[in-house]
Amino acid sequence: MKKLLAIPCLLVCFFSFADTIHAKIRAGVSINTKSSRIDIALHYTILNTGTSPDSLVFYLSSKSTINSITAKGMDSYRIDTGTRPEQTVVLYFDKKTAGSNDPDIFFSYSIPLDQTLLDRYGFIELGLDWFWYPVHTDMNEWKFLYDLNLQTDRPTLQVFSNGDVEATGRNTFTVRSKYPDFDINLFLLENAKVFSAAGNDVKIVGNANNMPLKDSIANTTADYLSYYRKIFGMTASSVTAVFRPIFNDPNAFGYSRKGYFVLPEGKNLASTTVYIAHELAHFWFIYGEPKENAWLTESFAEYSAMLAVRHFKGDSVFQEIIRDKHERLNRLIRDGRTIPAILRNGAKNKTVPSQVALYNKGPLILEKLRLLIGEEKLLDIMRAVSVQKIRTTEEFLTLLSELTSVKTAEFLRDELMQ
Ligand SMILES: [Zn+2]
Repeated sequence: MKKLLAIPCLLVCFFSFADTIHAKIRAGVSINTKSSRIDIALHYTILNTGTSPDSLVFYLSSKSTINSITAKGMDSYRIDTGTRPEQTVVLYFDKKTAGSNDPDIFFSYSIPLDQTLLDRYGFIELGLDWFWYPVHTDMNEWKFLYDLNLQTDRPTLQVFSNGDVEATGRNTFTVRSKYPDFDINLFLLENAKVFSAAGNDVKIVGNANNMPLKDSIANTTADYLSYYRKIFGMTASSVTAVFRPIFNDPNAFGYSRKGYFVLPEGKNLASTTVYIAHELAHFWFIYGEPKENAWLTESFAEYSAMLAVRHFKGDSVFQEIIRDKHERLNRLIRDGRTIPAILRNGAKNKTVPSQVALYNKGPLILEKLRLLIGEEKLLDIMRAVSVQKIRTTEEFLTLLSELTSVKTAEFLRDELMQ
């Protein structure tokens, strides 16, 4: 807590700003596996807008069928199907008749269910990347609380979420936010098994394949969680981690929300540990926004994972990861590709050089910083980045010059420019 005293006022203000709740969402979600569709009735209460908005804009899955959108004071709405990443719904308000700063909006729509995933692998996965609910265009910055009722027509499906799940009947559940966050994650898994560790602090969810592996994953997750808590402080009180039962899917990816993450199922513990360590680290590092500051989220999570691996597996394994990251950079350079400078990366896009910059070049720069200023100082800085929810590289460099020296901040700026 000592470090908090050193936070300059500007950053304290930022800290509270970043915690603003922009909406409350209440929803009824009905999953119909027989007709392969999900019916959704969703009630947004927009908060803290300050003034009555002229318009509000949301992305919603292009596959959705909208039954109705209503809101007090809303003149009309328009659906723009030509937008990316998904179709856009624009609501226009009449400022004179709206009469409230916080509009209530009611959406009623349905989206198709991915029956192939359900039939072949036994799961339904819903989250921000599927745009299954109206996602505000400020996606990662727009925090909300949600409270939903979920109903399914299949008793074998169990429900997991970034929120608290409570079974209220045979096929009915309530799911409620634990923290203000930017996503509603629902993972329904057939005949799910839960593997616990650290009391009930860690819950690993998966199917019944390879149960000893999942048991050891639960223990590893508990170990890594306690290490991070020791060096970065407390954040989420518990962890639910879902292992998506697909093997060898080149498009499989993981993601993390506070207290919750999803990863594709791996072959063995050794190949999964770094991914677990990375996703867990996002409980502390997730604030690098907008996109050109994504390294504050991804490079910091990856470097935290490397420190955790070093703690549990020793320095030689850590050095192996360092060598591997250098090799990935060199391979691209040999192929004549240019790896963007962190400060010129521009976006967390999916091109290989951009990804290599975020997951390899960025962590290697942090390693250089560790060698320059020492581990204790670097951990102080990482802790401050997490506690103060540092969002931009400029904020980070200011923090760095305050906690180390102007010269160190200049050194790092040069590294980020190369
Ligand atoms: Zn990540």
